[in-house]
Amino acid sequence: MGLLSEGSPLSWQETKKHVDHVKKSGIRQFLSIYRRLKDRQKDHLKWGDEVSATRRKTNDVISPAPRPKIEYTLVHFDHERKTARLYLDGPKYLETLQEEEKRSPDSHPTTWRPEYGSYMLESTPGKPWVFVGDLSEFNDVEPNMKLRREEITKLLEGTNVSCLTVTTFPRIGCPDFTQPIYRPTPQPEADGASRSVFYPDQAIYPGHPRFRTLTRNIRDRRGSKVAMNLPIFRDANTPSPFVETFDDPEANAASLKDHVYLDCMGFGMGCSCLQMTFQACSVDEGKYLYDQLVPICPIVMALSAAAPIYRGYLVDSDCRWNVISGSVDCRTPEERGLKPLSENKFVIPKSRYGSVDCYLASDKYNDVPIQYEPEVLQELIDEGVDELLAKHIAHLFIRDTVSLFSEKIKQDLEKESDHFENIQSTNWQSMRFKPPPPNSDIGWRIEFRVCEVQVTDFENAAYAVFIVLLTRAIMSFGLNFYMPISKVDENMEKAQRRDAARAEKFYFRCQPFPGDFEVKAEDPEFSLMSVDTLINGKDGEFPGLIPLIWRYLDSVHVDAETHCTISRYLCLIERRASGKVLTAAQWMRQFVHSHPKYSRDSVVSDEINYDLMCAFDKIMKGQMGCPELLGKCDDLLERKDAQTS
Ligand code: GLU
Ligand code: MG
Repeated sequence: MGLLSEGSPLSWQETKKHVDHVKKSGIRQFLSIYRRLKDRQKDHLKWGDEVSATRRKTNDVISPAPRPKIEYTLVHFDHERKTARLYLDGPKYLETLQEEEKRSPDSHPTTWRPEYGSYMLESTPGKPWVFVGDLSEFNDVEPNMKLRREEITKLLEGTNVSCLTVTTFPRIGCPDFTQPIYRPTPQPEADGASRSVFYPDQAIYPGHPRFRTLTRNIRDRRGSKVAMNLPIFRDANTPSPFVETFDDPEANAASLKDHVYLDCMGFGMGCSCLQMTFQACSVDEGKYLYDQLVPICPIVMALSAAAPIYRGYLVDSDCRWNVISGSVDCRTPEERGLKPLSENKFVIPKSRYGSVDCYLASDKYNDVPIQYEPEVLQELIDEGVDELLAKHIAHLFIRDTVSLFSEKIKQDLEKESDHFENIQSTNWQSMRFKPPPPNSDIGWRIEFRVCEVQVTDFENAAYAVFIVLLTRAIMSFGLNFYMPISKVDENMEKAQRRDAARAEKFYFRCQPFPGDFEVKAEDPEFSLMSVDTLINGKDGEFPGLIPLIWRYLDSVHVDAETHCTISRYLCLIERRASGKVLTAAQWMRQFVHSHPKYSRDSVVSDEINYDLMCAFDKIMKGQMGCPELLGKCDDLLERKDAQTS
C-alpha cells in the first residue's frame, strides 16, 4: 500500500507540525532525482522493439515486461458451521514467506509485503520479467502467479484456511466476520484507530505501525470518521425504506437511508486488486504511456468488476473504487467545501485515492482545474521541470503527510527519497508515475492500478497480459486515446455501476490512429461506446482494442505456444466484453440469486457467503469448472480454427 518506513509513528497532532517540512523536503528530493535521472535513456530499448541478445545475457531489468502485483485474502472455513471468515494470522505467514528474500535479496522468486488487512498478503515477482523480444515471457505470467499462490498454500496445508483472490470479502464488517472473532471498539474512550462500529482494529495488519497510524491520522485530520454509503441493491423483499440504526450517534448521523453504510478505512484498503508496473525507456515515454492508459482505466475497471457485496448486502455497484476513495478521504470539512475557507486554502474535489487529474505529455485535454501551491509549482519550473510534470507533482503535494515516523523527519535531500515517497505513495491514483528510486538502476515507471483482482490465476494473467499487449500496441502504432479528463472522470463513475460492462456506454476517442488517417471535420472526436465496441471493435465506430492488439501481434514474431497462450487470454477479455462470459461481479450476483437460501432481501447470509467462498476456492484450484465465468477451452480452439481457416 506504499512506503513502509520503520520507526515510531507520530500522531496527527505531532505530524501536523512537520507537514511543511515534509512537503518542502519531498519536493527537494524529487528535484534531486529529476536532475540526475531526467535524461536516463536506454535508447536501444524501445517499447515493442526486438531486443538484442546482449540484453538477454546481461539480464538488464529495463524492460516493458510487467510486474503484476497481486493482493491475496486469507479465508478460514468452518465446514461444520458453514462459515467463512477473514483469517487474521497473515503476519505469521508473511514472516516465513519473506525468509527467502532475506536470504537472497537479489534473487528471490517473490517479494512478499504486508497489506492493510491482517488477512491480506501482497506479492510481486522478485524480478521483473525480461522482455526477450519473442513475447515468450507471456507463457511465464500464469505459472509465476501459480507459484506465488503455491508459496502461501504450502504454509496453509492442514489448516482450514485458503488463499483466495477476492476483491471484497462479501461479509466484511458483519458480526463475527474475522477468525479469531473480535468486537469492534467504536467508543471514543477505547481510543481505537478506526472507531468503527463494524471493523475491529485487530483486522488491521498489526506488524507494521503504518496501517493503524494512517487509519487514525486520516480520521483525525478529517475531523470525523470516514463515511461511505453504497446504494443497496433493491430486490423484491428488500425492506423499503432500508434503514439501519446503530448504537452510535456518529454512525446514525452519517448513514443514509437505502444505503449500506461503511465507516472505516478497512472497508476500502481491506479490498484487493491487481496492479501492474511498467518500466519505460525514458521519462518522455513514461509520460506518453501514462497518458494513453488514463482513458483505459475505467474500461478495464468495468471489465474486471468484482465487488458487488459489502457488509453482507448486495449493493447497487460492482467495483471497489469509490469505497476505497471514501475510506482514506482525509480532507477537512473546508477542503470538502462544507465550511467557509480560511486564507490560502482551497477546496479539493477528490480524495487522495482517486482517478488521475491531469495528463503529463499534453495538456490539450486537461479540462478540469487542478489545485496546487503556486510557490511549489514555481520552484519545480525554476529547477527545469516542464510545466505539466511540475503541475502534476505540485498537485500531489497539496496532500499533507498523514503518516510520519519520528526517526524519519531528518533526511538527506540528495540520497534519500522518503519524504517524496511519503506524499507520492499516499496519492493513490488510477495511474501512478514513478520516478526512479535513488541509487538504483531502475528507470521511470508507471503503474496501472484500477484492475480488481480476479478469482483465478488464469484470469489475473489474462488481464495482466491484455494490459501489457495494449501498451505494446500503443507504442508500436503511436496510438492516441486522449480525451478530456472530465470525460474520463465520468467514465470512472459509470464503470462502477451495476453491470456496467454490459449496460453502460463510455466516452472514448473514435479515431485512435495518429496523423495519416483523414479525419473529416464533421466526424465527432469522441462518442459513447459500449465495452464490447471498445474492446472488440465495431465497423464504422471504433477499431477495438483487441483487434489492435492482434494487428500488433501480426507484426512481430510469435511462436505457436505463445500464440496459443495469448489467444486464451485475449479470448477471455473479448468474451467478458461481449457479455458471453460474466465478470466476477455478475457471476457473484447470479450465485446469490440462485442460492436456495436467498430470500430476495439483498442479504448475503453466512451460509450463502460460505457457499460462495467454497465455490471460489474450488474454481481457483481448478476443482470446479465454471464456464460462465471463464469460458470454455473448446470454444477457444474453435475460434483458433476459424481464424486459421
Ligand atoms: N488494495 C488497494 C486497491 O485495491 C491498493 C493498495 C495499494 O496501492 O497497494 O486498490
Ligand atoms: Mg498493495
